[in-house]
Amino acid sequence: MQPALPLLHAPEGVELLPHDEVLRNEEFIRLIGLFVSLGVVKVRFTGGEPLVRKGLLDILSETGRRFPGVELCLTTNGTLLGAHVDDLARVGVTRLNVSLDTLSPEVYRAITYSDRMDDVLDGIDRALACGRFDVKINAVLMRETLASLDEYLDYFAARNVTLRFIERMPFTEEDGFCSYLSADRLIAELGARGGFARNTVTDTNVAMMYDFRYRGRFPMRIGIIPAISKKFCSSCNRLRITSDGYFRNCLHATAEYDLKGLMRSGADDGTLRDFIVKALSEKKGEHDLDCRPEGGGCSALTRTRSMSKIGG
Ligand code: SF4
Repeated sequence: MQPALPLLHAPEGVELLPHDEVLRNEEFIRLIGLFVSLGVVKVRFTGGEPLVRKGLLDILSETGRRFPGVELCLTTNGTLLGAHVDDLARVGVTRLNVSLDTLSPEVYRAITYSDRMDDVLDGIDRALACGRFDVKINAVLMRETLASLDEYLDYFAARNVTLRFIERMPFTEEDGFCSYLSADRLIAELGARGGFARNTVTDTNVAMMYDFRYRGRFPMRIGIIPAISKKFCSSCNRLRITSDGYFRNCLHATAEYDLKGLMRSGADDGTLRDFIVKALSEKKGEHDLDCRPEGGGCSALTRTRSMSKIGG
């Protein structure tokens, strides 16, 4: 029996944007070009499920054609992944991050309000069978994670994926203290299940990487992203553009910069570039969430969009 999970999203789902507020394909391409000219080398389309957007494959394909040196990545909740694996390979996507917090159907339903976990698992297997992607499975670390940790590890032990556990960052007052579990607690749990050694050679600028011998036998790659208990803001180089054309210099920033409005008012590339550079210069040194990991969580001090409106 899984522990009860508090409701994390409104059951009625997310609010839809009017069509005209969403960036058009050519606007995405223009913005990507501007960021590439400023030094960006990796572009990731995120969700939720970015594959719900009509024309995403065209944007990916055009990005690959115009900016061949740019790495194309996708973060998806996996619900539509299975049907698009071949297309994603064709347009040049090389990295897939699939968000899957649990293998418990009940917990999955409580988090997502859907019964599509089997579609996600099928999508992961199709992506692995395709053989063209570096596949990472992202799980938000919650107290519920521990209840089914062995089930999760057993399932992925035989699959060629990197498992990444991400400390839960609250976005609204309501979810401030919900289900927080620290990276150190997970590290202790994993260490009790087999050889567990830090591999700083494969560390990324957000994830501490570990080589794991699960049950002493199965080699696994584990990444741990301690966004709360060991802030890594000083090495974070992530920039975000929302689907409605706002630039965010940090996931938790309260400020958003209206790139779409400036673009649609006729600004030239130089003006847009200066605007981006100024917005970037205003990035804070680190997030200022009121974190008290030992006290069980972290309260959201910044009023910002929920994660579903920013993208992972
Ligand atoms: S809070 Fe902002 S700066 Fe810190 S890691 Fe997250 S996105 Fe990067």
